[in-house]
Amino acid sequence: MKPLDQVLPPSAAVTAEGHLSIGGCDLVELAEEHGTPLVVYDEGALRGMARAYRAAFAALAPDVDVIYASKAYFGQAMLRLANEEGLCVDVASGGELFAALRAGFPPGRIYMHGNNKDAREIREALAAGVGTVIVDNLDEIDLLAREAAAAGVRQDVLVRVTPGVKPSTHSYISTGQIDSKFGFSIEGGPARAAVDAVRAAGSLDLIGLHCHIGSQLFDLSGYGAAAAIVADFAASCGGDDLRVMDMGGGLGIAYTGEDRPAAVEDYAEAVVEAVRGEWGRVGLPMPRVLVEPGRSIVGRAGVTLYRVGGVKEIPGVRTYASVDGGMSDLMRPMLYGAVYEPLLANRAEAEPTQTLRLVGKHCESGDVLVSEAALPPVGPGDLVCLPATGAYGVSMASNYNGVTRPAVVFVDGGSARLVTRRETYDDLVARDM
Ligand SMILES: *Cc1c(COP(=O)(O)O)cnc(C)c1O
Repeated sequence: MKPLDQVLPPSAAVTAEGHLSIGGCDLVELAEEHGTPLVVYDEGALRGMARAYRAAFAALAPDVDVIYASKAYFGQAMLRLANEEGLCVDVASGGELFAALRAGFPPGRIYMHGNNKDAREIREALAAGVGTVIVDNLDEIDLLAREAAAAGVRQDVLVRVTPGVKPSTHSYISTGQIDSKFGFSIEGGPARAAVDAVRAAGSLDLIGLHCHIGSQLFDLSGYGAAAAIVADFAASCGGDDLRVMDMGGGLGIAYTGEDRPAAVEDYAEAVVEAVRGEWGRVGLPMPRVLVEPGRSIVGRAGVTLYRVGGVKEIPGVRTYASVDGGMSDLMRPMLYGAVYEPLLANRAEAEPTQTLRLVGKHCESGDVLVSEAALPPVGPGDLVCLPATGAYGVSMASNYNGVTRPAVVFVDGGSARLVTRRETYDDLVARDM
């Protein structure tokens, strides 16, 4: 097998028949039973990451809340698992709020995000009793203040600020710079105006600040840089209401054998020590720290299985192997040029002797899953496993070309349970009047 240990869930193994297994379940058998594409999550790995996060922060600071960023994968089974493991949840729309409530999350442990919450979503959040709303623009502060007053409630609020830090990641997932659709810039005054507006609203309680500098970060120094700027800003605001500092998410994961992500423990130390040090420097008491990991909780725990159909060799150019999914279940290669490393689930120990292009079945030339895939010779019926697809895979899925979205299975201790059924053709036309 290729040296992909760090991209597969820790329970990955090869069976006597040479099949890849996860959580004690043979992936070839799972694909036969449930069809392909199939998303398989290792439940032990999901719980393991949730626990590692809580333990790493608990060791460094009291009452840190770890908030699962549900947009990474918001299936009901995952939301219930996050709740069971003592995580809070962040939602970025009315739909994600609905899903979190349906999964049984106590409203007080829900954090409501979004850069354009509409009146309906704000009313839904207030009616549910969502614990904290993170505000993103002045119009929204106005709307939230009016709706909260009308509902007769006082709403806890964090102000999302952009510290002007540009971490080294893809520009589409970099959010901390000043020129961003997210948050209030500290530079130039918008963040101060937001703090003043929330303080002035009788129906809103300002409890702290939020910043999320970006995603898929390997370099932890960005958190220190952001904390320094936000601490100066907090000190300049005066008052003693800024008791909470939400440092966002962003810890990267390995997608290939070459990636070297930071450990959760190192990330926790970087974040907590940055806040402790910077708040100390400006003479403010240590705030309660919140973090919002998404990708790093679910990414490595999930793999996607695809069945190879046609294989086409263009002499002197390259070989294309087409699979039965593509951009409809995994947008990241098209969206960010993300690189994945596939392996064969049905011949896991065969040597990768060729490079081919692994493509999806959609009517787009850009529907490429892996541009340069090192694989053994493949033919129709082979089962490709794409590791590290647990985050931003099915949560970004579409029905392009009338392709039905995949089923999702959780595996653990040798047994598998279907947690989301595959879409049907009837589902595809169900909403058309
Ligand atoms: C997406 C997002 C996260 C999670 O980011 P990851 O990189 O998946 O950890 C956290 N907070 C906010 C505000 C986000 O938009």
